[in-house]
Amino acid sequence: MAVQTVASTTDTANSVDLGPAAALSCRECGHRVPLGPVFACEECFGPLEIAYDFSGYDTEELRKRIEAGPANIWRYAPLLPVPADVATKPNLNPGWTKLVQADNLARELGVTGGLYVKDDSGNPTHSFKDRVVAQALEAARAFGFTTLSCSSTGNLAGAVGAAAARAGFRSCVFIPHDLEQGKIVMAAVYGGELVGIEGNYDDVNRFCSELIGDPAGEGWGFVNVNLRPYYAEGSKTLAYEVCEQLGWRLPDQIVVPIASGSQLTKIDKGLQELIKLGLVEDKPYKIFGAQAEGCSPVSTAYKAGHDVVRPQKPDTIAKSLAIGNPADGPYVLDIARRTGGAVEDVTDAQVVEAIKLLARTEGIFAETAGGVTVGVTKKLIEDGVLDPSLTTVVLNTGDGLKTLDAVAGTGLTATIRPSLESFREAGLV
Ligand SMILES: *Cc1c(COP(=O)(O)O)cnc(C)c1O
Repeated sequence: MAVQTVASTTDTANSVDLGPAAALSCRECGHRVPLGPVFACEECFGPLEIAYDFSGYDTEELRKRIEAGPANIWRYAPLLPVPADVATKPNLNPGWTKLVQADNLARELGVTGGLYVKDDSGNPTHSFKDRVVAQALEAARAFGFTTLSCSSTGNLAGAVGAAAARAGFRSCVFIPHDLEQGKIVMAAVYGGELVGIEGNYDDVNRFCSELIGDPAGEGWGFVNVNLRPYYAEGSKTLAYEVCEQLGWRLPDQIVVPIASGSQLTKIDKGLQELIKLGLVEDKPYKIFGAQAEGCSPVSTAYKAGHDVVRPQKPDTIAKSLAIGNPADGPYVLDIARRTGGAVEDVTDAQVVEAIKLLARTEGIFAETAGGVTVGVTKKLIEDGVLDPSLTTVVLNTGDGLKTLDAVAGTGLTATIRPSLESFREAGLV
């Protein structure tokens, strides 16, 4: 299928089966178009997102069906843009990661209302990106693409490579050339093509947009560009899982990292859906966004009281969050303000400190993005913004083994000869 950037109204009926997904709808003007590999509104160039038909769902039946489903994201298939038989197709089946009750960290931070870490390092390629790629893969299948591609800050490249390998797609992915070794190896090992671009993520993204309009990119499904509306829905599963794991209860506060901001906006969408479907009680919740100071376009706009986000040139160790021009930035500002949350940032030194804090208290080794959320949580509590008496969920979206450089210098306590004498001399007993 030829790749279009803008939807055309000439095709009126959906010819694809993506379950409850009914159409694409513009987030700005509400204009609706049939499901297809398009991402921008033909009327106003606003971003398209999935509109669903959830009519006919009975709350109790739906809850039972979900609870009887597989221990991965496909338990929520009735709420996702995927065919009903999705669990039978080759996919990495991510999700249903641990919600860790973090009592030690809570004690350290003074949280009394219950603190949980949603640990997405347990996904197949060790980051939350497996959730979004799993959706994009099903859309790519439905639209007849044979090559999967993406612009990536690192984790996405690995997730696409692995999903393509498993499902028998070709993959060709693009990253900034200077990423961490762990991310490069993780993206390359699955055998797809991995192209380093001399530039930052925003340059990579611009290049991919050009490639989509060129014959060279014809027939390619770019998971976060022309398949973005489908891809983005994968983040809703984080919201579903957190609520189900809390016993079908909304958290009071949730701290989410921001790269493009897509994940944060879809967590809000997921929580709203659960409320509308009656699966959780309708009560207020607050969403907090977390960035690294070296790439903090959204928190800067939040603090200045702006509605628009001014692009920045990223310079931070939190490379997976280093998007200087975040597409969903304005929507993030809106959600943080509407829910009574906030957007905050921490320095690279605080990121490292937070990685070590989480590891030392809970035995979870987070990548820099997890250091960002834990660090921001600590800062927001200290500043009296986050209420420690409320149930709080902090996301860890990636694995520390991919960003070892961040904690370089952490190592041997002592080096000794293999003798008790030498051990005693080291002063450890
Ligand atoms: C991609 C990514 C995010 C968030 O991405 P959004 O673009 O904001 O959806 C968060 N954490 C990690 C580790 C990531 O790789």
